[in-house]
Amino acid sequence: MTDQNNRPASLQLVWLRRDLRSRDNKAIYYASQHENKNSSVVCVWFSFPEQWQEHHDSSNKIHFWLENIKTLDKNLAVFNIPLITRTLSRYSDASAALIDLAKRLGVAGLWFNDEYGINEQRRDTEVEHSFQQAGIPCHRFTDDVLVKPGSLLNKQHKPFKVFTPFRKALYASLNLQDALPLPAPEKQQPITINLSSDNLLDIQPTATIRDFWPTGERAAHEALQEFVAERSENYKKDRDFPAQNGTSILSPCLTAGTLSIRQCFTTALQGNDGELDTGSSGLVTWISELIWREFYRHILVCFPRVSMGKAFKEETERLPWKHDKSLLNAWQEGRTGVPIVDAAMRQLVTTGWMHNRLRMVVAMYLSKDLRLDWRLGEQFFMEHLIDGDLASNNGGWQWAASTGTDAAPYFRMFNPVSQSEKFDPDGEFLREWLPELREVDDKTIHNPSASDTLFYDESVYPKPIVDHKRAREATLTAFKRLKSEGQP
Ligand SMILES: Cc1cc2nc3c(=O)[nH]c(=O)nc-3n(C[C@H](O)[C@H](O)[C@H](O)COP(=O)(O)OP(=O)(O)OC[C@H]3O[C@@H](n4cnc5c(N)ncnc54)[C@H](O)[C@@H]3O)c2cc1C
Repeated sequence: MTDQNNRPASLQLVWLRRDLRSRDNKAIYYASQHENKNSSVVCVWFSFPEQWQEHHDSSNKIHFWLENIKTLDKNLAVFNIPLITRTLSRYSDASAALIDLAKRLGVAGLWFNDEYGINEQRRDTEVEHSFQQAGIPCHRFTDDVLVKPGSLLNKQHKPFKVFTPFRKALYASLNLQDALPLPAPEKQQPITINLSSDNLLDIQPTATIRDFWPTGERAAHEALQEFVAERSENYKKDRDFPAQNGTSILSPCLTAGTLSIRQCFTTALQGNDGELDTGSSGLVTWISELIWREFYRHILVCFPRVSMGKAFKEETERLPWKHDKSLLNAWQEGRTGVPIVDAAMRQLVTTGWMHNRLRMVVAMYLSKDLRLDWRLGEQFFMEHLIDGDLASNNGGWQWAASTGTDAAPYFRMFNPVSQSEKFDPDGEFLREWLPELREVDDKTIHNPSASDTLFYDESVYPKPIVDHKRAREATLTAFKRLKSEGQP
């Protein structure tokens, strides 16, 4: 039964967020299966420019989202599901905007997939309350993760704080059937919606991301299939070498939700004959990396202070960070005089992405060699990353700074030159990003100023802005002092 606008008796409204895919999206799938066969599904997506700015979300990432929205609109049309876009300002606008839409469209139910940042959780609780008050059912799903964050507890019924037992517990509790991707949503009756969409924001990326990051579900799937079939076998061996094409580079797709965690997990599992922790060492390692993503979401939910700019280890709030803008600028601009750090930072600013080994190296360098507050680095990453993700970024930064859960012990400090020699032995990655060092030989390129001071030209490439050995001593002293002062 449809009304005079050719509208079915009731509509199910799906609110999309960081789950920009038509397939294996729980909210869309279950809304499309709604028992009221007279209903149809409509999707809505909101821009929140002021909130995004406050969260330091990069223009690279937002541009990527917006490009994906255009593709998603076409993918949803295959199932006769219209997509409405609206530009709001802050999360606090969401509730009123959704209720307004619900009233105008005669919506019978709201459907969405949960997000886990503290502001996102507050927003969603407010929306749920408004819908309860309006008497419209609200259906929420655990979709972004394999296991609901906070639901896995240790033997003492406390949240896990260490990765390996968390992963073991997750593997033990996981029902593999639940991790399978869902079938395609049911095709809906064609409907006409008499509501126009707002124009999508015109946000220009700062990096040359168009060349690097194809958009859409199809491209994401092809990349996943290609990785699992062609490259995963060598993942364990190659993944630490930034000059190799050794990792999946799927993080932008997972962050925007053009790929689901179930699609990644199941494709890897199928590639490994259904084995989780035996079989292909490459796939076993890769699946374990997917679980790090789960782990940091679990930490975000169980210890919400990390969502609010606080250290996981509270005593580390007393670490005496340096306040030196010139050091920060040199790090951000790739002018530290440490080639591996500078090359990595230039990769970030140019492409919106950085290899995992390098994220660890530059994060440890900022927090332990330069002794700048890890939050400055965390923010700069968010401002540039196309895959910027609160949980994983915060987890990675606090790991490197030794302020986090299951973090690197404070006395573990990478020597960036040794890291460079080990993980880019021929200087291939360095030469790609530091053209001024292209002619330098394979040994010298890792630490040019140390080789021959007589012929060293600082106008070509700077000397290191800090001495690693001395910085190491100072950092160790600062951490030891914390220990001797005891817990707060
Ligand atoms: C300081 C720092 C900041 C980081 N910031 C982010 C971030 O903002 N967003 C983000 O997605 N990842 C972040 N990571 C984790 C990791 O560096 C990236 O996920 C990885 O480099 C993405 O490349 P890939 O897709 O080729 O990864 P692969 O090696 O192919 O791994 C597959 C997927 O597993 C997940 N994954 C892998 N390693 C980690 C990890 N250590 N922690 C959490 N998830 C992981 C990612 O979703 C990744 O796409 C950060 C790590 C560090 C050390």
